[in-house]
Formats: sequence, structure tokens, C-alpha cells
Amino acid sequence: MNIIVCVKQVPDTNEVKINQETGTLIRDGVPSIINPDDKNALEAALQLRDENGGKVTVISMGPPQAKEALREAYAMGADEVYLVSDRAFGGSDTWATATIISAAIEKIGGYDLIFCGRQAIDGDTAQVGPEIAEFLNIPQVTYAKKIEQKGDKFIITRATEGMDYIIETPKPTLITAIQELNNPRYPTVKGIFSAYENEIVKVLTLPDLPVDTTQIGLKGSPTNVFNSFVPTKEKHSEIIQGKDTKEKVESLLNKLKAVNMI
Ligand SMILES: Cc1cc2nc3c(=O)[nH]c(=O)nc-3n(C[C@H](O)[C@H](O)[C@H](O)COP(=O)(O)OP(=O)(O)OC[C@H]3O[C@@H](n4cnc5c(N)ncnc54)[C@H](O)[C@@H]3O)c2cc1C
Repeated sequence: MNIIVCVKQVPDTNEVKINQETGTLIRDGVPSIINPDDKNALEAALQLRDENGGKVTVISMGPPQAKEALREAYAMGADEVYLVSDRAFGGSDTWATATIISAAIEKIGGYDLIFCGRQAIDGDTAQVGPEIAEFLNIPQVTYAKKIEQKGDKFIITRATEGMDYIIETPKPTLITAIQELNNPRYPTVKGIFSAYENEIVKVLTLPDLPVDTTQIGLKGSPTNVFNSFVPTKEKHSEIIQGKDTKEKVESLLNKLKAVNMI
């Protein structure tokens, strides 16, 4: 079974601080990690490969430092890793990101399943997985918390608020993983050595991909970020005045009634 896993390198949000003047993330010196849901996606792919044979291919779109995430994926057991990287891809929104990743998947070809994480902890939109499925015109099952194989099909338990759905889907399908799906394995020592011994990361740039350049990068992105800011938290307090407790309580009740709180 040939499985493609999309992995995003993200800043470790436990370490990220906000520049209060510009409202932007301070990324300098912040460690980067594999997006947590993507590790669950990778673990699910590795388990299916271990049971059925085949190959797990990991793709990450990002700047050259995203190679680190790919080396970690390789050390966990991925068979092949691809970095999709070009200056022309910078500034891409989710639509443009999914356009580029879909083109890379088409270029690699021959897949039975595609895995994504549910959501990236920095962009937080949960749009890229479903958009890739739409661009590739294949079925998608999001929020997967359990995957079983039944012949050529998959039975997927999809978690939603309040109830689970059991969905049968054929190959190829795109699945987005949530953390309940599994416990991702650790990279092995042998895997870490292999990941750094040779240049294992294959790089795909713009000329390698069948993409319409009007659909990618900042110019090809249908959404624009006009401003980003840290919401200010305001607290107001008022001391209730009155000659005695009864009058203070009545005053408080009247204030609460006036704002429809009671
Ligand atoms: C106008 C605009 C400009 C932007 N410019 C930039 C910019 O210059 N630089 C920048 O870093 N970001 C930029 N972004 C953010 C960028 O578009 C998103 O980070 C990206 O599209 C992924 O969206 P997300 O983080 O919400 O991922 P989600 O949709 O939450 O991710 C879901 C899953 O999709 C997969 N996935 C998502 N992104 C990738 C990836 N890159 N590689 C592999 N798999 C992936 C993963 O499996 C992930 O778990 C911009 C956004 C907008 C709207």
C-alpha cells in the first residue's frame, strides 16, 4: 500500500511569544516541531505499511529548514521524504498551499491513501487536507480517530462533537488524523543515523510541478491577511456603594437586571 503523508513544520507554540508592538509571532530562537496531528497521521500510515507492506512517502511544503521535520519523519520510519520549496510558493494561503501540495502528490503519483493532520497549530484553519482532496477529486474523511481495513476498503470512525460517525471509504481517500487515533512512535537511533548519514530529502521546486503559477504564492492567494493583533483583555471592577448590606445587595441586583444577567 502506497501512502502519502503531509507534514507541516510549525513553531513550538509552548515557546512562542508575541511582539506586543507589531502583534506578530517572535520566531527567532523558537524551536520548530512536526505539527502534532501530523505525527498521528504519520503513525497511522506507518502502521498500515507495517501490516500490508508498501511505502510511506512524506511531503512537507516550506522553507529549507523544514528538512529537519522530514529527517525526523524518516527517523520514525518513512521510506521517502520530499521537501516542496521555492521562493514562488512564499505567501501562499491555504488555497495556494493545497494547490502546490496537490501538484506534488500528482507528481509523485501512485497513492492508495493520503494522510494529513486535522489542523496545524500555527495556521489553525484545518482547510489544507480537505482542499487537497477536492483538488485531487478523491473522497475525504476528516477527524479520524480509528481506522480499520475491510478488504480494499477502510472503515473509519470520525469523531465529531457529541457523536461518532462510522464511514466506509474506498481507495484512494484522504484522511485527516486527530490525536485520539494513536500514540506516535519515537524515532529510532538507527533511523536518526540514517536520516543524517546521506541527503535523504528530495526537493521539488516550481519547475518540477504541474502548477498554474497564477494560483500560487501571495499573488495567487484568494485570501489576504490585512492585520494581525493580540486581543487586549480588559477588566473593569466597581465597588458597590450603600449604607448597609441590604442596600448594597439591592444595588447589585438592579445593576445585574439592567444588563439582563438575571
Ligand atoms: C494571505 C496569506 C499569506 C500567508 N503567507 C504566509 C507566508 O508567507 N509564510 C507562511 O509560512 N505562512 C503563510 N500563510 C499561512 C499559510 O497559508 C498556512 O500556514 C498554510 O496555508 C497552511 O494552513 P494552516 O496552517 O491553517 O494548515 P491546516 O489547514 O490547519 O493544516 C491541516 C493539515 O494540512 C497539512 N499541511 C498544512 N500545511 C502544510 C505544509 N506547508 N506542508 C505539508 N503539509 C501541510 C498538514 O497535514 C496539516 O496538519 C499565509 C496565509 C495567508 C492567508
